[in-house]
Amino acid sequence: MSDTPPTLFCANHPNVETSLRCKTCEKPICAKCAVRTPTGYSCKDCVNQRQKVFETATWYDYPLAFFIALILSYIGSRLIPNLGFFTIFLAPIAGVGIAEAVRGATRRRRSKRLYQIAGLAAVLGALPMLLQLLYYLILGVSFLSILWSLIWQGLYLFTITSSIYYRLKGIQIK
Ligand SMILES: [Zn+2]
Ligand SMILES: [Zn+2]
Repeated sequence: MSDTPPTLFCANHPNVETSLRCKTCEKPICAKCAVRTPTGYSCKDCVNQRQKVFETATWYDYPLAFFIALILSYIGSRLIPNLGFFTIFLAPIAGVGIAEAVRGATRRRRSKRLYQIAGLAAVLGALPMLLQLLYYLILGVSFLSILWSLIWQGLYLFTITSSIYYRLKGIQIK
């Protein structure tokens, strides 16, 4: 081995010179293809491969997460009319509660898809109330009060969905 390292070309970009190598597969990678990890630079393939190892969810975790988030989100949305303004404070708590219920039921198994499914289910669970209100709005029943309810429902949907997703995602070990 000489002191000056030989010129390498990125495995994905054959005309880009580089001096980096993936620390796992030793493939030459350019700055664009390199992903920084706590232990050094890695290529995207190796990062994805590692991510898969962390994904421990089994097939039945998906319907389980879906139905739990769906039902709890729906129950929550039924409570919103009584909460009004307090939705702002209670929706994030509801989101965390649902996320914890999903984690408990799936025994903390992980996968990105699982979080997305839980988030989607939360949206679907909150939709019936939202659609019902929209329907009232179209019918023209007490416009202003319906509008406020609609705002709280919309806020609820947005808050629980994002807090469920990020709560679950945040647990993931990098
Ligand atoms: Zn690699
Ligand atoms: Zn490259």
